[in-house]
Amino acid sequence: MDAREIESDLSEVLVTEAEIHEKLAELARRIEADYDDKDLLLVGVLKGAVMVMADLARELRSQVNMDWMAVSSYGVGTQSSGVVRILKDLDTDLTGRHVLIVEDIIDSGLTLSWLLGNLESRGAESVEICALLRKPDAAKVDVTVKYLGFDIPNQFVVGYGLDYAERYRNLRDVAVLSPHVYS
Ligand code: 5GP
Ligand code: MG
Ligand code: MG
Repeated sequence: MDAREIESDLSEVLVTEAEIHEKLAELARRIEADYDDKDLLLVGVLKGAVMVMADLARELRSQVNMDWMAVSSYGVGTQSSGVVRILKDLDTDLTGRHVLIVEDIIDSGLTLSWLLGNLESRGAESVEICALLRKPDAAKVDVTVKYLGFDIPNQFVVGYGLDYAERYRNLRDVAVLSPHVYS
């Protein structure tokens, strides 16, 4: 796929690279202040959160640990299944740890609400959420997000880590995927 083909698959840029970086810097300042005297473990949710994790972690001036989990809740389509399965677990023992889950997007909220419960049950001292994007109109369960980037409309988006059928993850902006691509 060349650049022109990719562009024809996108209907609108929702959040630009510059807006993302500005927001992550803002969130990083809050996180530094909130975890001032604590050791923080960032838990990135593969694969979508790779870009958020990389940029947020580098914005943080404090010492942090990073670990990763892979869970499945979506197949190749655009609908949430509600069924969460661990594909790759953490390497880190969470006992007594301060955990910040780093996510790309909250859609129904089902994945994160499950993940929150799962990590809390491992004896973490605290578990909070940082998510770059949230679709308020798609929420099926309430999830408290302490650090939120942007609320967006209920449309399927790609870029900055977010895929459709494993494509478009490397785009720098977050854009709406044209429905002609998946319908
Ligand atoms: P949820 O469980 O909140 O419905 O969504 C879980 C996962 O579905 C997200 O972490 C993300 O990987 C994927 N997802 C939800 N909405 C979108 C979207 O608009 N675009 C893409 N590419 N993935 C999404
Ligand atoms: Mg995700
Ligand atoms: Mg995906």
